[in-house]
Amino acid sequence: MTIDSMATITDNESQVRSYIRNFPAVFKKAKGSWIEDIEGRKYLDFFAGASVLNYGHNHPELKKALIDYLSNDNITHSLDMASVARAEFLETFKRIILDPRGMDYRVQFPGPTGTNAVEAALKIARKVKGREKIMSFTSAFHGMSLGSLSVTGNAFKRQGAGLPLTHSDSMPYCNYFGPEQNTIEYIDRMLADSGSGMDTPAAAIVETVQAEGGVNVADKEWLQGLEALCRKYDMLLIVDDIQTGNGRCGGFFSFEEAGIKPDVVTVSKSISGYGLPLALTLIRPEFDIWEPGEHNGTFRGFNPAMVTAKRTLELFWQDDTFEKDVARRGRMMRDFLTMLSEKYPETGGCPTDRGTCINPTKSCPKGGGCPRGRGMMQALEFANHDLASKISEVAFRHGLIIETAGPDDQVLKLLPPLTTSDEDLQKGLNIIEKSLVTALEELGLKKKASGE
Ligand SMILES: *Cc1c(COP(=O)(O)O)cnc(C)c1O
Repeated sequence: MTIDSMATITDNESQVRSYIRNFPAVFKKAKGSWIEDIEGRKYLDFFAGASVLNYGHNHPELKKALIDYLSNDNITHSLDMASVARAEFLETFKRIILDPRGMDYRVQFPGPTGTNAVEAALKIARKVKGREKIMSFTSAFHGMSLGSLSVTGNAFKRQGAGLPLTHSDSMPYCNYFGPEQNTIEYIDRMLADSGSGMDTPAAAIVETVQAEGGVNVADKEWLQGLEALCRKYDMLLIVDDIQTGNGRCGGFFSFEEAGIKPDVVTVSKSISGYGLPLALTLIRPEFDIWEPGEHNGTFRGFNPAMVTAKRTLELFWQDDTFEKDVARRGRMMRDFLTMLSEKYPETGGCPTDRGTCINPTKSCPKGGGCPRGRGMMQALEFANHDLASKISEVAFRHGLIIETAGPDDQVLKLLPPLTTSDEDLQKGLNIIEKSLVTALEELGLKKKASGE
């Protein structure tokens, strides 16, 4: 029996479905940076499952490791009982990732999703410090369960909770008021003043680049300043590296460049390397004070995901070749976006409502859009808030899958798999330019080119 897949899904699945509405095709196959739908139409994937597929779809070496593991009747589910796959992943993670970086963390498997890792991080921070509050940041995104939502900025997502989200204080992120005001000084004043009305939090939770929040980049000095505040006021520093980690924004961990030492790190999305669910909460040994079973969960360590995770680390992270190539292609993306913002003045007007460029770059011309990002997470913010969504829609018609970000979806966010070839990368960038031109026309925003 053949079924109408799209009708079956829309008739049966909850209204909550979302990406299916932006990318209305029925996908069947995928390989590397390409996805194919049931009509045989091919799409270049510049979304990569929101950075779950940093190594592309169905990487042949990872697939082989997975198939070998499954076909030999190796164990799939084991709660948190000992397994060979678990031990091998932990050994490889320590040897290839932690030890060479001089990092000492205990690995907690908190459940298979990112929000599970965040919940565990918040809990352990409160337990360690015996305090209730968590400091979070404007435009942050940390997941959809109640604890994670309470430290998430987006009003639409927050109201879905249906109850007051408390036990957290939202503070201004890097450049929230523009580049002139250092928000670390503001937070320092709030914490120092016993009349500020702010209780000392157990921890601060931060993303080095706010991916969902609009690709807002925290600079090195700001992250170092936040670390210093955490030490000064005896708070834990939690870095949520779920989307920015696994090589997306530079090193394996996005905070390596800033040289900071978080007390707790959350890792998920691309850690399995293959799109299989896996999440980690990394905890400095002195703070690993859980009682056995105090934070439990059925799917804590899905063995097949640990198998592909181990293979991923061996394939990509033994030396810095991959990391350097990601940096090079990240620059290709950034140069392209800078060119777009200069060539098409319609992209711009320095784009924030606050009237100041929140990420000034030397190349950002007055009246241009605002390109920003780190590594292979690059983005362009538009003054016209309909433009990014329109480009995404047009790009899909041209065979490119690309998402928007930011509280008003005003940011076009490029997240190709890190393994995308230069040729495919260029192909995708060309589609973005073509789609921008069409989007400007369709929205009636096209200005006459100078000299015409
Ligand atoms: C995706 C994401 C999460 C939540 O992960 P889920 O697997 O969707 O629960 C948390 N934090 C960040 C930064 C993310 O990008």
